[in-house]
Amino acid sequence: MKAVVFERHGGPEVLQYQDLPEPRPGPNEVVIQVKASACNFNDIWARRGLPGMKIILPHISGSDAAGAVVEVGSEVKKVRVGDEVVVHCGLSCRQCYYCAHGDEYFCPDFKIWGFQTGPLDGSHAQYCKVPALNTLAKPKQLSFEEAASMPLVLVTAWRMLVTRAQIKAGDFVVVWGAAGGLGVMAVQVARLFNARAIAVASSEEKLELARRLGAEFTVNRKKQDILQEVRRITEGKRADIVFEHIGAETWPVSLQCLKWGGTLVTCGATSGFEATTDIRLLWNKQQNYLGSHLGNKGELIDAMRFVERGLIKPVVDRVMPLKDLARAQQLMESNEVQGKIAIVPA
Ligand code: NAP
Repeated sequence: MKAVVFERHGGPEVLQYQDLPEPRPGPNEVVIQVKASACNFNDIWARRGLPGMKIILPHISGSDAAGAVVEVGSEVKKVRVGDEVVVHCGLSCRQCYYCAHGDEYFCPDFKIWGFQTGPLDGSHAQYCKVPALNTLAKPKQLSFEEAASMPLVLVTAWRMLVTRAQIKAGDFVVVWGAAGGLGVMAVQVARLFNARAIAVASSEEKLELARRLGAEFTVNRKKQDILQEVRRITEGKRADIVFEHIGAETWPVSLQCLKWGGTLVTCGATSGFEATTDIRLLWNKQQNYLGSHLGNKGELIDAMRFVERGLIKPVVDRVMPLKDLARAQQLMESNEVQGKIAIVPA
């Protein structure tokens, strides 16, 4: 099969389009013919290499896949050859105390498939294998490209806003990177809950997309002062929730944008991990700073119910062939993507 592999860390030039043997399933696994995968920022973190995290080499990235099951392991009962599926990329033991409580990400064996797994175990290939438990039926009305563009960013945004920040009707929610992979989902989740998204992005085109997805307010971060705009929009009150994933460059402004008693929720730090916090905000204003990581399979099932009803839609910026994965990653790194890039192996 064709796959995109890297054997050392570096820039997009380390990605090689190669021939590899097709994967075979373990007893509880299924093999999927990948009809589409999606680019996520963790593909880029893995390729660059992350201090304190082991990336297993040689590596196939890719934590989202949509495709058809072509082989099932000897113990697999509920997934059949021919099933059209998407993947929930959180792998865990499903037996420990944390898994039993639905806290899969605290499981000692927790790994994000296509990021922390390997060698050669991700979706940017013609075939991939995952535990049968990690498959979900592909929503019928979605194309494979749309379906692949959905699970990771949807479950992450859902957990951040619904489970962690407990979004509710009327909340002002500042969404950074509102036209990015996570952002397009966050804006739609906010609309679903009748909350008032304040979408932040770097161009008018991206802000127009955010408005189409349901953002009530938009702020162009290249042209406008974000704190001033948030104060104006909220009539001085500031935001109930800030949806963070940018990190060092935006963290201090995010804290300033938050109201007394407000909640900042973060899952990432694209611009850097070391940020400054004026901790007076924490006690004086009694703000809440919450971390969030992926989401469990139940949260993905909950969120996908709204996809099935057409109330949350995947946003595909473009479809690119697998051999052009390096170019797709460059587009993501230079913030030129609206929603997701779907990758097709053919
Ligand atoms: P993405 O599709 O590349 O979107 C990121 C957006 O951030 C871009 O559209 C860009 O929008 C904005 N941005 C980039 N640099 C910025 C800066 N310096 N200041 C303000 N805005 C900036 O990426 P994504 O998929 O949304 O992921 C975002 C981050 O979350 C990544 O670091 C990723 O690793 C992390 N993440 C974590 C989890 C988890 O489970 N922990 C899950 C998913 C993602 P504009 O340039 O238009 O403003």
